[in-house]
Amino acid sequence: MGRLVMKFGGTSVANIDRIRNVARHVKREVDAGHDVAVVVSAMAGKTNELVDWCRDASPLHDAREYDAVVASGEQVTSGLLAIVLQGMGIQARSWQGWQIAIKTSDAHASARILEIDGTEISARFKDRKEVAVIAGFQGINPQTNRITTLGRGGSDTSAVAIAAAIRADRCDIYTDVDGVYTTDPRVVPKARRLDKIAFEDMLELASQGAKVLQVRSVELGMVHNMPVFVRSSFDKPEDIDPHGTPPGTLICSEEEIMESHVVTGIAFSKDEAQISVRQIEDKPGVAAAIFGPLAEANINVDMIVQNVSEDGKTTDLTFTVPASDYNRARDTISSAKAKIGYARLDSATDVAKVSVIGSGMRSHAGVAAQAFTALAGRNINIRAITTSEIKFSVLIDAAYTELAVRTLHTLYGLDKA
Ligand code: ADP
Ligand code: ASP
Ligand code: MG
Repeated sequence: MGRLVMKFGGTSVANIDRIRNVARHVKREVDAGHDVAVVVSAMAGKTNELVDWCRDASPLHDAREYDAVVASGEQVTSGLLAIVLQGMGIQARSWQGWQIAIKTSDAHASARILEIDGTEISARFKDRKEVAVIAGFQGINPQTNRITTLGRGGSDTSAVAIAAAIRADRCDIYTDVDGVYTTDPRVVPKARRLDKIAFEDMLELASQGAKVLQVRSVELGMVHNMPVFVRSSFDKPEDIDPHGTPPGTLICSEEEIMESHVVTGIAFSKDEAQISVRQIEDKPGVAAAIFGPLAEANINVDMIVQNVSEDGKTTDLTFTVPASDYNRARDTISSAKAKIGYARLDSATDVAKVSVIGSGMRSHAGVAAQAFTALAGRNINIRAITTSEIKFSVLIDAAYTELAVRTLHTLYGLDKA
C-alpha cells in the first residue's frame, strides 16, 4: 500500500463524462489499497474564459479580484469529482486551497506556495479512507486572507507541492498525452516518448516553452526528490494492469537514468518579442541605461545581442522580452530615450525561440554549431542566440518554427524509428 497524488488537467475533466472516467482511475488506485489525494484543473477552456471576463470587465483590473474569479474553475471540478466518487461508493470530499490551507505569497496571479498543512488530509486517510479532491491552481495568502492563484498551468505545481506535504510515494500527472516527448507531439509527429527524463532537463524543457508541466512543479519535484510520472488520462482505467508499468514518463534524478543522449529534447515558444535599440553611442553605462529601467518595470529580458550599427561607428542592442510585456517594454525604452541616446527603435513580434536541451551537452562540444549549419541549410535566419551549460536557444521568424523544430529533431537523432 502506498500514498499517491493523482493530478488531472483541463482536457481530462472537460465534461461530466470525462470526470466519470477520472473517477474510475481514482477508484482503480483506491481498490489497489492506496491513500489517494486528487488534484484537478478547471474544465478545458474555463480558465481562459474567466481571464477574458476579467479583461472585459476592466483591462486594469485588481489582481486580487482576478484571482477570486479565475480560481472558481477549480472549485467547480473539485466538487463535481467528489460528487461522482461518492456516487460510486467511495468516501471523498473536496478541498479548496484556503481550506487545507495552501499558503502562498501575495504575488496575485503568480503566487508561490510557501507552506501546506497536510495533517488533516493524512488523518482522514487513516481514520476513514477518505479521498481528498483538491482544487488545483489556488491558495491563500495568510497575511491578507485573500485567494491567490499560481500562474497558468499551476495545478501541476499544486499537485507536486501536495505530494511533498503528505509525503506521497509518487505524483502522477494525468494529461492529454501519454508522457513527455522529445518535443511537442502535436507539432512533430515523429516525436518520441521518453521513458525517463532528469529533473534538470525537464526544468529547461518547461522553462523554454514545453507546457506539459509548469516550471515550478518541476523545481518542487527536484527539491523534494518527488518522482513525478506523466501519463494519459485517456487510457481506459479497466485496461490498466495494476502490476504492470503503464505508458508514461518518469521525471527523476539524473542518477536513475541509464542511457543518456547528448540532446534530450527541443522546446519552442512563440510568446516572444524582439526589440532593437539602434545606433547607440558605444560607451560604458549604455546597457545599464537600457536594462535598468526594464528591470525596475519587472520585465524579464531573455536573449541579448550587441553588434555594430550600419554606420560602423555606433552600436545596436537587440533583446527579447515575453510578448505579454512587449508594449510596456517599448514604452519603457521610449521614455528613457534622452538618457540612453539612440536613433531608432525597431521591433518584431512575429518571432519564435527554439531551444535545444540536453544535460549531455556539458561534456560535448560543437552541438550548437551543428544546428546553425542545419538551419542555414533550410534558409532559416537566426536573429539571436543564447547558450547555457545544458541548452542553447535561437530566435527566428515565427513562420519557420515548425520547420526549425523538425530539422533539429532529425539532426540530433530524436525522430522515432
Ligand atoms: P493539462 O490540461 O493536462 O495540464 P496541458 O495542455 O497543460 O495539459 O499540457 C499538455 C500539452 O503539452 C500536450 O497536449 C502537448 O501538446 C504539450 N506539449 C508541449 N511540449 C510537450 C512535450 N515535450 N511532451 C509532451 N507534451 C508536450
Ligand atoms: N486552470 C489553470 C490554467 O488553465 C491551471 C491549470 O490548468 O493547471 O492555467
Ligand atoms: Mg497544464
